[in-house]
Amino acid sequence: MEQETLAIHSQYIKDRERTMNIPILMTTAYDFGTTDFAASSFNLEQGTDNVYTRVGNPTNAILEKRIAALEGGSGALATSSGMSAIFYSILNIANSGDNIIASNQLYGGTITLFTQTLKKLGITVKFFDVDKPQEIESLVDEDTKCIFFESISNPSIDLPDFEKIIDIANKFNLLSIVDSTVTTPILCQPLLLGVDIVVHSASKYITGQGTAIGGLIVERKNLVEKIKENARYKHFNEPEPSYKGLVFSDCPATPILFTFRARIVLLRDTGGCLSPFNAWIFIQGLETLSIRIKKHSSNALEIALWLEKQDIVKKVNYPFLTSSTSYDLAKKYLKDGASGLISFEVENLDTAKTILDNVKIFSIVANIGDSKSIINHSASTTHQQLSPEELKKAGISEGLIRLSIGIEDSDDLINDLAQAFELVKN
Ligand code: PLP
Repeated sequence: MEQETLAIHSQYIKDRERTMNIPILMTTAYDFGTTDFAASSFNLEQGTDNVYTRVGNPTNAILEKRIAALEGGSGALATSSGMSAIFYSILNIANSGDNIIASNQLYGGTITLFTQTLKKLGITVKFFDVDKPQEIESLVDEDTKCIFFESISNPSIDLPDFEKIIDIANKFNLLSIVDSTVTTPILCQPLLLGVDIVVHSASKYITGQGTAIGGLIVERKNLVEKIKENARYKHFNEPEPSYKGLVFSDCPATPILFTFRARIVLLRDTGGCLSPFNAWIFIQGLETLSIRIKKHSSNALEIALWLEKQDIVKKVNYPFLTSSTSYDLAKKYLKDGASGLISFEVENLDTAKTILDNVKIFSIVANIGDSKSIINHSASTTHQQLSPEELKKAGISEGLIRLSIGIEDSDDLINDLAQAFELVKN
């Protein structure tokens, strides 16, 4: 089945009431009926369904299976936010004393998680220049657990060379993890390219209307082959004391391995689970994602082309501009567009402020992926916590403005920007 059909129909077997829409099963717990059934549920003999909503819920399960189908993966885990999805994807493989290798172009929250919180937990992060993936090789050592990068970097709006990064990850038997929030499974399916784990902030294009916070972790099919007997991933290959010595890479839940462990160890112990209500919102979002993301992308391309012609604009970043350093990678890796994200540079902070303070349709919001258009000054908001040095490395100047183009009429959006640009000239 094609993605458009999977997004609407997959994994829902109509319930007794034959409801066309998926029911929101707001329940904390489930009746086991007998003591034997309760004991076998806690022993994982019944799988992980219907034990306790912190580790699984039937509404969440439909979202998880649907995103796995859309990504071409074997399984998924829903989490309370995009940040918790990223955190769990790392915590699932790294301990104190370990290190990970990450792109230098990441969402600001991910950078602070990596440089501050992981550091406090004893996990070191080594950054590589995403435009020079060959740098990764010299950073790998025996304690390295993964290579982490984004499918489109935000706010520099660059694409990584997936194949080169995946080849290095495979050469060292390392997991590759990509934050695919911006491209969504409709524009790019990293697992089918050979990436091992995909994470999403569902709070963006998946919900589509800025209504809920949530995250998703999705794993590639046959991941067990890479993890089993791989000395880097002891968590998966040694007996787990909290499950009577269960060895994950041998257990019956495989081929769902990575998300299975994240669920029954990390969600069980730290509790960053998704509310079934939010899962239901994301299920609604997935139904229309394919048409929305194409409109976001076509609007954005039109606006990027217009921005390139404006005197006050020094540089425009959008992968499908022929001037973009990511143009060839975009043609290779993206289908149907490059999302609604554009960034562009103006002379200085004052010019940026005049534009932000005078647009009427765009709102100044620290978010992306809403149906409504958003304008943002990265250096003073999402990336405020970065040092001047880190800002420079991430390519964020004082005059950099990020747009998240919505699905309004593109001429109205251009006219809105044009009237704010006129005020700069006067
Ligand atoms: N990843 C990317 C690319 C993001 O832009 C964001 C938030 O802006 C996140 C992750 C974090 O997601 P959440 O806000 O759902 O925790």
